[in-house]
Amino acid sequence: MNGGVTYGFIGLGNMGGPMAANLAAFLAAGGYPSPVVFDAAGTADRAPGGATCAPDAAAVAQQADLVFLSLPDGSAVKAVAEAIAQTPERRAAALVDLSTVGIDAARDVDGLLQAQGMAFADCPVSGGRIGAQNATISLMWAGPADLLEAHRPALESFAGNVFHVGDRPGQGQALKLLNNFLSATITAATAEALLFGLTQGLDLKTMLDVVNVSTGGSAASREKFVRRVLPGTFDSGFDTALMAKDLALFADSLRRAGAPEALTGATEALWREFRDAMPASDHMEVYCYIRDRGAGQGRRPAEDDTS
Ligand code: NAD
Repeated sequence: MNGGVTYGFIGLGNMGGPMAANLAAFLAAGGYPSPVVFDAAGTADRAPGGATCAPDAAAVAQQADLVFLSLPDGSAVKAVAEAIAQTPERRAAALVDLSTVGIDAARDVDGLLQAQGMAFADCPVSGGRIGAQNATISLMWAGPADLLEAHRPALESFAGNVFHVGDRPGQGQALKLLNNFLSATITAATAEALLFGLTQGLDLKTMLDVVNVSTGGSAASREKFVRRVLPGTFDSGFDTALMAKDLALFADSLRRAGAPEALTGATEALWREFRDAMPASDHMEVYCYIRDRGAGQGRRPAEDDTS
């Protein structure tokens, strides 16, 4: 790795916080320059040890060669990308967006950065907050291969699986959106199936023990239901609003592509209605929403209420 590279990181939330921490630890261990970080909700509180806090996105662009973004949605990413591209005395020559923003937003950002002579990679991530903490997340890089190879050691400091999925920004988003459609559909179907089992007098843990070594098991049942639903914590670190955003983007993209549709409408509507009913929830509270929506409201259960 080129030891002179300075990295920037903007957006230090559930995903960006641990990703930036793993990057900072890797850079410190190698004696490389510390990363320059910024978050609009307060940088000092969220910055990992060893990072340099910046007062805004422009200050990051003036100090870093390559800037990573982990922001909620396309409008936040477009606003920050525009601020970076227009920064006077800008040092940043490349931007890597780790957020889920949709295909159109990724293409828009690519166009605006190219016009300013900057390189761009659309590089959404999967694996959740725990995966980000453990540096096991997947990266779906759509952009120049040489940029990926030049920065692979830094990328592998916070991701276990780095995939070059295409050369065109937007292709990473397409893969991320289809992944989250699968995840959302399997998560909701698992909740519905387990809630049926409860009506038959089956025990929640017993059902998960069986399903998790049988054909109905999935990453959702093995990880999220065992760790977040069974203990009644519902604390996956992925907000319902973000999942509903991803499904709206997936449904819109699928329809505009003219791709075959069987389940998309039902999944998208379920998560939109869940978001509207429980706007500040964690996405694993879909279990509570499906359980209680017949009664007219989503309810967070008591800890002993899940078996
Ligand atoms: P989050 O809301 O926890 O973090 C986003 C951070 O961005 C916040 O700290 C916020 O203050 C900051 N921010 C917002 N606008 C900003 C701006 N203009 N300038 C600087 N900072 C700004 O969200 P998250 O869960 O970390 O998700 C980030 C992205 O990653 C989203 O696009 C999400 O869809 C995607 N994602 C999340 C998960 C997950 O499990 N949480 C998994 C994969 C992908």
